Amino acid sequence: MDNWHDYWPFLVFAAALVVVLAQTLWAQRRVRRERQLARQEYTEALLQKQQVVIAEAQAQMETLFNSMSEGVLIVGPDGRVQLFNQSLRQLLQFEGDLRGQTILEALRSHELDNLVKRLLKERAVLSTDLELGGTKPRYAHINASAVIDKTGQQRGVMLVFHDQTRLRQLENTRKEFVANVSHELRTPLTLIKGYVETLLNGAKDDPSVAARFLMTIDKHADRLTFLIEDLLTISRLESGQVSINLQPTPLREVAARVVEDLAARAVERQITLVNQVPADLQASADGDRLQQVFFNLVDNAIKYGRPAGLVTVQAVRGSGKFIQVCVRDDGPGIPAEARDRVFERFYRVDKARSRDQGGTGLGLAIVKHIVQAHGGMVWVESELGHGASFFFTLPTANGKSDFADMASRHGRAPLS
Ligand code: ADP
Repeated sequence: MDNWHDYWPFLVFAAALVVVLAQTLWAQRRVRRERQLARQEYTEALLQKQQVVIAEAQAQMETLFNSMSEGVLIVGPDGRVQLFNQSLRQLLQFEGDLRGQTILEALRSHELDNLVKRLLKERAVLSTDLELGGTKPRYAHINASAVIDKTGQQRGVMLVFHDQTRLRQLENTRKEFVANVSHELRTPLTLIKGYVETLLNGAKDDPSVAARFLMTIDKHADRLTFLIEDLLTISRLESGQVSINLQPTPLREVAARVVEDLAARAVERQITLVNQVPADLQASADGDRLQQVFFNLVDNAIKYGRPAGLVTVQAVRGSGKFIQVCVRDDGPGIPAEARDRVFERFYRVDKARSRDQGGTGLGLAIVKHIVQAHGGMVWVESELGHGASFFFTLPTANGKSDFADMASRHGRAPLS
């Protein structure tokens, strides 16, 4: 210990060395930690960025998936629904969630269930047509295919539903129309044939019977002619072949021509026909087509109105740029449930009465087409036992029709 003083520089040096070493180690550690933190932050930022990119891609996929007009349903390898889109929800008309359900639970169709089971085993593309349940029947054509991933593994089944409801409805309407036309044509033809056969079998020898039969044949031949004329008109109107030549048209004159043409028929039923259309009203209309509208409505008022009754034709300028016309009778009227339907093709309230009067069941359908082609609207108001009033609107000659105004006045006729 005597020469302790000899060692102290060494000790100081050693202590300084320790301090420097410690500082170096600490600094290294700090750098390492900082680097680690930077790396961690960078990784987190990268991860966040990737998450944003994934979320965006997912949102895009979802938007695309849900904006598809076809319904799509994806079934997992376990046979349970994994995913479906909005269009499928609309097509199947359901509220809840189908995920996790089997095809049988979700769609209640054994056919689709079998199809999916088959596609979970084999790689194929299959299709089928299906009537979907619900309050309103809907129809779909379904394409189904197995989902195979990049490694060739079976991942499930994808079903694409194409809505065929509208197409089916059109097809049904067409079939119904063809059936109706065939029926309408067959009835007078059968009657004509029957009377001709009876005449040939001897009835012709009795002049009074023969005359009666020939008059009946004539009546049914007329019916056939009217029917064919109306069918041609409606088919031209529906296919857009009829061009509407809009001209300033004095309504009173058109009504007067129709009243004159139908005067004899009115006399037959002792009906008084009155034209109350003001002389100054001019519509922007196709004169010939408009005459057909007036003719069909006044003809109906005579046919279905009260014998010895009153039929009036009236018109008034609306507050907008339209004219409202009304053909009114004081007959038995039209029951509430039939008021919208009378404008359908071949719809009749009383079939026998219509046929007996030579009706084709197409008159009001033609009226509706022509009025709509002018940008107008047509409707009927009636109280059972108190007559029927058929209204329609037309644009005035000096301006286009004001649809909003027409709609607001719809059904509230200012005519007395
Ligand atoms: P139809 O050729 O049978 O007269 P429409 O299409 O002109 O065909 O009319 C359809 C049905 O609407 C008629 O069969 C009749 O039952 C009913 N109808 C039409 N106008 C009147 C009216 N003024 N009064 C009562 N019923 C009417």
